[in-house]
Amino acid sequence: MASKAVPPKSSPTVKISRRGADRLRDGHVWVYRSDLISADGIPPGSLVHVADERAKPLGTALYSSASQIAIRLIARSHEEVADFPTLVRERIRQAIAYRERFVSNTDAYRLIFSEADFLPGLIVDRYNDLLSLQILTQAMDAEPVRQTVLAELTEKFHPAAIAERTDPKIRELEQLPPRPSSLLQGDKAATIFTMNGVKFHFDALAGQKTGAFLDQRENYAAAAEYAHGEALDIFCYQGGFALHLARKCSQVTGVDSSRPALEVAERNAALNVSLDPGNMNGQEIEWIEANAFDLLRDYAAAGRQYDTIVLDPPAFAKSKKTLDTALRGYKELNLRALKMLRPGGILVTCSCSYHVSQADFLEVLAQASRDVHRTLRILENRGQAKDHPTLLTVPETAYLKCLIVDVR
Ligand code: SAH
Repeated sequence: MASKAVPPKSSPTVKISRRGADRLRDGHVWVYRSDLISADGIPPGSLVHVADERAKPLGTALYSSASQIAIRLIARSHEEVADFPTLVRERIRQAIAYRERFVSNTDAYRLIFSEADFLPGLIVDRYNDLLSLQILTQAMDAEPVRQTVLAELTEKFHPAAIAERTDPKIRELEQLPPRPSSLLQGDKAATIFTMNGVKFHFDALAGQKTGAFLDQRENYAAAAEYAHGEALDIFCYQGGFALHLARKCSQVTGVDSSRPALEVAERNAALNVSLDPGNMNGQEIEWIEANAFDLLRDYAAAGRQYDTIVLDPPAFAKSKKTLDTALRGYKELNLRALKMLRPGGILVTCSCSYHVSQADFLEVLAQASRDVHRTLRILENRGQAKDHPTLLTVPETAYLKCLIVDVR
């Protein structure tokens, strides 16, 4: 966070408890509402000074009057802060510079990742000539901030359009007025993007997340390194893994419960074949609409065998409370997949639940392997792509786990 910004002297000060102050001193950037000592009458989304019980300054933060995360630090006490829009502009430039250094072989990537880019509550994804943004906090939703973000992105990228994806639940929790997903600028809502040489259709106002699972980009390429033979991509969505595997494998089947996702997957496959018939090994990917748990049970019972299986389920643990159920879900999936892998098979298994730690996930896989008497060797222990940076002292910024294992 090496930025200059001085909160106007008039900015209110929020005093926080010892526990909150310790958290910030440990390098985190959040303070929970239960750790606020005084914040009465502070307007939603304000830029505030943060101080400990003894009034010692801790930095500058964005205040939310609604979220349990009341304070999101944007600068430490030794960093000056002028005004918020200036800071936002500077941080956007830094986020872009980071991608220029570390992201390659794609025209789709996360350009700004909230806390991990020191812009809490702002997410911007680039899909070729379209940008898609999400605003999650009161401070980022303020009109002058929105205008700054749009101006900065436009100046840098001259995008054909900028879309905003809104989540009604998040807006309600943050006490923001409802707002539809829409194009904020330009009128082009669809495009084609390319990652690792594979092409994908993108529709700015449809689909899950902001359109694709960009966090898996590097894992797609890694999975394709090891994939071989007959492959199964479970929870395939629009074909992220399947399309990459198709270049290496003799036969690929993608499975998802969402018909709209599979329709895009099929269009994506056709697009890649039409542009380069050799690209997909001359094969047709089979897309199956099914509940993954049912399908795996049936296929395992029928004695089906594969050489490569990808498991990339949705987040099973949305909160700590559902952790045990989630772990059982992960175990069942992995167990069934392991049963179906031929010796020398490759399992690519993912979890995007923040609440499931790396250690939990490894333990679940170990349990599954013991139950089915298979020996696993970890080829790669991976996380999210570098355009979704992880802040070492903010564990919540790391959520994706992707293990690639050799199964004996
Ligand atoms: N692997 C994908 C992302 C998967 S996201 C990619 O890289 O792009 C999780 C997917 O699981 C979603 O597409 C969702 O439709 C699907 N899904 C959720 N529950 C399911 C279930 N019970 N059976 C099959 N698919 C399911």
